Amino acid sequence: MVDVLNEADVRRVLAVAAHPDDVDFSSAGTIAGWTDRGVEVVYCLVTDGDAGGFDRTVDGEGMGALRRAEQTAAAKCVGVTDLRFLGYRDGAVEPTLALRRDLSRVIREVRPDRVITHSPERNYQRIYPSHPDHRAVGAAALDAVYPDARNPYAFPELADLPAWTVREVWLMGGPAVNHYNDVTDTVDRKIAALRAHVSQTAHREDLEDMVRGWLGANAQAGGLPEGRLAEAFQVVPTV
Ligand SMILES: [Zn+2]
Repeated sequence: MVDVLNEADVRRVLAVAAHPDDVDFSSAGTIAGWTDRGVEVVYCLVTDGDAGGFDRTVDGEGMGALRRAEQTAAAKCVGVTDLRFLGYRDGAVEPTLALRRDLSRVIREVRPDRVITHSPERNYQRIYPSHPDHRAVGAAALDAVYPDARNPYAFPELADLPAWTVREVWLMGGPAVNHYNDVTDTVDRKIAALRAHVSQTAHREDLEDMVRGWLGANAQAGGLPEGRLAEAFQVVPTV
């Protein structure tokens, strides 16, 4: 287990994800709990998910627009209305200096106490969390947290935005979970958020059972009482 920031000291959170729906599968229950307490949460989506979905009558551009709208609706289910889309190409994300700069810009604009993003490490227990876009976004986001966003001399083109130090990062989908967050009270809104991604989840009649199954297994692994549900993270202190 790890020392986690005192929740009373967390006023703003930035969630950085590769694709629409990533945050909802990994973290929407946790985010709903935060917004209930008045925490301001902002989403940054690196791609529009234009290579996803199952409806090939829609082209990549149409799919990207659809998935932005779905992510916006899903965010609303958990109290999030500020979304930033960076427009990188789905399936082709690399942890470049350009992505580090773009994420540093968002961090300096939002000034979050905490960032949620993907683990850059491959998870050999389950293959899905380790999509190459996820690992690339996680690596670039961590590099933006340290050193870029806090270094006033990084990226001269961002000099107008004061440097900002993020104090904690929560990694999704990685191999080294050290924190289980109870989401029993917010699971209905998580499932509503997942259903808002119609192009991704409409074909899954078993969605609710599947999600409750994962969350129940997390709670058990975290030693929570019988019947509780949890989302799992690796919390990394970054000060
Ligand atoms: Zn994804």
